[in-house]
Amino acid sequence: MAVTRTFSIIKPDATRRNLTGKVTAMLEEAGLRVVASRRIRMTKEQAEGFYAVHKERPFFNDLVAFMTSGPVVVQVLEGEDAVALNRRVMGATNPENAEPGTIRRELAESIEANSVHGSDSAENAAIEIAFFFKPEDIVG
Ligand code: GDP
Repeated sequence: MAVTRTFSIIKPDATRRNLTGKVTAMLEEAGLRVVASRRIRMTKEQAEGFYAVHKERPFFNDLVAFMTSGPVVVQVLEGEDAVALNRRVMGATNPENAEPGTIRRELAESIEANSVHGSDSAENAAIEIAFFFKPEDIVG
């Protein structure tokens, strides 16, 4: 399996509870390497653009409000089959359905405030990385 990259966000519910280090440690322990990281406050426009694929969903406005409610940490992660590996470490969208030991099962507050975002395909990973990082900001 090749070393690839994926995009991650530590969401506002996690930064609010001072869990940036804990989430990052769980990612690292799973074999992912943080090759870019920045703490930002997302604008409404950024959140709407980032989640544009969900704009017809009933929870879209709530999701944008949540993602702009506090700081987030945007990260590029590198590892063997990084997209799939990160999705495994994250766990299911709804923490109640997530496997024990996953970030969402151990740390998430709710289906919305679920602590982390992770790209769901290599194609989306490339798009999402480019949304927040310039190539020279990623140091592998
Ligand atoms: P993910 O890929 O596991 O993050 O899940 P999705 O792409 O389906 O959803 C994106 C994000 O929208 C999730 O991580 C949640 O923060 C939020 N979300 C998903 N489903 C729901 C829902 O039913 N209600 C609410 N309020 N938020 C949701």
